Amino acid sequence: MTRQSPTRHPQALIIGSGAAGLSLAIHLAGHLRVAVVSKGPLQEGSTYYAQGGISAVLDERDSIESHVADTLNAGAGLCDERVVRFTVERSRQSIRWLQSLGVAFTEVPDPQGEHVLHLTREGGHSHRRVAHAADATGRAIESVLIERVRRHPNIDILEDHIAIDLVTTHRLTGEGNRCLGAYIQNRSTGRIEFFEAPRVALATGGANKVYLYTSNPDTSSGDGIAMAWRAGCRVANMEFIQFHPTCLYHPQAKSFLITEAIRGEGGRLLLPDGSEFMHRFDPRGVLAPRDIVARAIDHEMKRLGADCVYLDISHRPAEFIRSHFPTVYERCLHFGYDITRQPIPVVPAAHYTCGGVVTNLHAQTDIGGLYAVGEVAFTGLHGANRMAINSLLECLVFARAAAEHILAGRGDAAPGVTVPPWDESQVTDSDEEVVVSHNWDELRRFMWDYVGIVRTSKRLQRAKRRVDLLIGEIDEYYSHFRVTGDLIELRNLATVADLIIRSALARKESRGLHYTLDYPKADPRLDHVNTVLRPPGSREAFAPLRIGITPDAGGTPGSS
Ligand SMILES: Cc1cc2nc3c(=O)[nH]c(=O)nc-3n(C[C@H](O)[C@H](O)[C@H](O)COP(=O)(O)OP(=O)(O)OC[C@H]3O[C@@H](n4cnc5c(N)ncnc54)[C@H](O)[C@@H]3O)c2cc1C
Repeated sequence: MTRQSPTRHPQALIIGSGAAGLSLAIHLAGHLRVAVVSKGPLQEGSTYYAQGGISAVLDERDSIESHVADTLNAGAGLCDERVVRFTVERSRQSIRWLQSLGVAFTEVPDPQGEHVLHLTREGGHSHRRVAHAADATGRAIESVLIERVRRHPNIDILEDHIAIDLVTTHRLTGEGNRCLGAYIQNRSTGRIEFFEAPRVALATGGANKVYLYTSNPDTSSGDGIAMAWRAGCRVANMEFIQFHPTCLYHPQAKSFLITEAIRGEGGRLLLPDGSEFMHRFDPRGVLAPRDIVARAIDHEMKRLGADCVYLDISHRPAEFIRSHFPTVYERCLHFGYDITRQPIPVVPAAHYTCGGVVTNLHAQTDIGGLYAVGEVAFTGLHGANRMAINSLLECLVFARAAAEHILAGRGDAAPGVTVPPWDESQVTDSDEEVVVSHNWDELRRFMWDYVGIVRTSKRLQRAKRRVDLLIGEIDEYYSHFRVTGDLIELRNLATVADLIIRSALARKESRGLHYTLDYPKADPRLDHVNTVLRPPGSREAFAPLRIGITPDAGGTPGSS
């Protein structure tokens, strides 16, 4: 029997409640009735865990040109300069907007006794330009945004609601290219409803959960990228996954980053036998850039078959350690490691997804009425390597850009197409949940082993064969059993794994975050060439996209 479910009709549907989704909701809510859905509690997403801060040109010795140049430099020839400039030029405005909402950034008195923002400096930035709220900037931002959306009468918040798929005119009728809404499951009741909305925004974050070790919360399963791909959007640069070199290695300590400042203060990286190894990889030793350190750790772990390496700061005075790294000290102690006396077990961890759904300067995707904002999107800002601290800025800048575009065309009506209710007539409750949990583990492990920090064509091909098999199994399972949150995420993870592997196979060079032993150098012929995958059914399955022909503001993608 087909279960009928009520249809919801917000004027804008936002899927995701991190910095991107909530900023967009606040910008729109003065004019439109907005629904924000999040698949867990509202605050659960990467935004809440961001530590360092947000980059912005605020210091009088700093300049837009300098921030642009640093970002282009980090991006290793693949940033779109127009997008970088667009973002950086709006950085000051973004910080001021957050302050106007009530975000309390850390301040210090200037020589005249006035309170001014305290700016720190992070790797790759040639000036102090990181506004922060102590070492918990994400929590400060997310809490203020949540408070705002909760009290706005025009914003309907639906926690524990997971989007399953987008509905488009093309999927229903085979014609046109417009988004009509999304099927969304209420996780507490299991009920699936169609949310009909003339404007839909994906703000679902990254896909880093596809790896065994990640600094991200469980929400980062690439749902938005997979949904957009199935609906017909292009996806770009998925091979560029940023790995953080040191995450605490402990079965219960999911996602805890050990700050790189520990290495800056004399921390040594050690193999399980207590020997140092970084000087064999780079003359700067433990102070080499993030990518080199992550690569060296990965190499040694694979060579030795070791579960982790160790970061040791215990030779510094205990008082110094406790006062400089209070959060790390407390957290490690909680898991049984006193870092004033013993080394910390660490592994590198997937940290940031540079690629995503292709968008333009209005955050429009290839599908009319569908926007993508935040880590889910490929705007062209990050290129082959995200410069630290630029990502929250991207969320804020593109949320505003999307809102401006949506509001400028808010009279547009979606075509009157009848959307059928979710059909569960052919499925039953699963009696084999073990298939889902097994495939989750298998997928994340082979992605870590074969598609991780150091790649080879052979390992990638091995991964491709495995992901093809898993996708077949998951599709079969999906068509026979009622969907659950775990199954939805597994299906999406398999899709993004496939996109990452295909993109990595396509890039026959090493550049930025993509490093392969088969092509260890950058190929100058591929300067400015992004990896763009086109969904099945489009004219070409794969085509390189040259920077500069990403769609102009106001043009395609998106028909409106
Ligand atoms: C530990 C850590 C530290 C970081 N530090 C910094 C930093 O200092 N500075 C910086 O600029 N960046 C930092 N980053 C990166 C930055 O935090 C993220 O890129 C950014 O917060 C992403 O925001 P977002 O709104 O796109 O997604 P998120 O904040 O990840 O939010 C995603 C939202 O989507 C929802 N969602 C996902 N799938 C679905 C679905 N199917 N249905 C319904 N809802 C769904 C989730 O529930 C969540 O609400 C850090 C990241 C981590 C993990």
